[in-house]
Amino acid sequence: MSNENKSIHEFDFNLICEYFSSLERQGPGSPEVTIKALSFIDNLTNESRIADIGCGTGGQTMVLAQHVPGHITGIDLFPAFIDLFNFNAAKLNLQGRVKGIVGSMDNLPFRNEEFDLIWSEGAIYNIGFERGLNEWRKFLKTGGYVAVSEASWFTEERPAEIDAFWQDAYPGIDTISNKVARMQKAGYIPVATFILPENCWTEHFYAPQVAVQEIFLKKYAGNKTAEELIANERHEAQLYYKYKEYYGYVFYIGMKI
Ligand code: SAH
Repeated sequence: MSNENKSIHEFDFNLICEYFSSLERQGPGSPEVTIKALSFIDNLTNESRIADIGCGTGGQTMVLAQHVPGHITGIDLFPAFIDLFNFNAAKLNLQGRVKGIVGSMDNLPFRNEEFDLIWSEGAIYNIGFERGLNEWRKFLKTGGYVAVSEASWFTEERPAEIDAFWQDAYPGIDTISNKVARMQKAGYIPVATFILPENCWTEHFYAPQVAVQEIFLKKYAGNKTAEELIANERHEAQLYYKYKEYYGYVFYIGMKI
């Protein structure tokens, strides 16, 4: 990669970070859904250790912390997200048991069997569902839980336009039954799966982006990278409204055996 490309790449990276830092969540979800997923998990105490992988700025982590005992470590690749994460934890007076660290999900700095629960909302796709479940398993105690949300197909077949979009964005997208089979093969009892309701996309993910997009387009008027980023986000939202009966996010909860 030439220096010129590198600087363009870094600029993109900073811009994307700035855009998503302005949002409470960096993926579809809601406090109600986090609490619902938690309702399938029953082994937590004050001594419990929980990891939230690809935690972003911690929207879901803070909800988790307010509903479970124990210590939570959030980990994300982007330092700007972790700064906000730790700021948010302090604002809620959770800094004593909620800590954000910078790191990558494909090289986690954890000990074997360290955790009672591994959480990851809308982030495991970065290394792939199957690889993540396989590689993260060693960090869980036997009887510990994994809870991840992931883009999934609701039907066996779907229109070509949305199929092509996802094959490009995340070829790992698959049907719910295939994902559950993968979870089982990776060494977990599939405890529960449920589809995230539409408001996780509309109200909690796409709606807050509308105002951020307006501000961004003004701030970066004439900037091609910013315009392309926003055009992409808008296109993705339009596709969701058009094809939401064919795909969505699904929570998968498993217990390590
Ligand atoms: N869990 C948050 C964020 C989801 S967006 C929420 O639901 O709101 C996906 C997150 O994964 C982003 O914060 C991104 O920075 C992070 N990410 C991407 N690649 C990563 C990696 N290799 N290791 C850790 N985090 C990563």
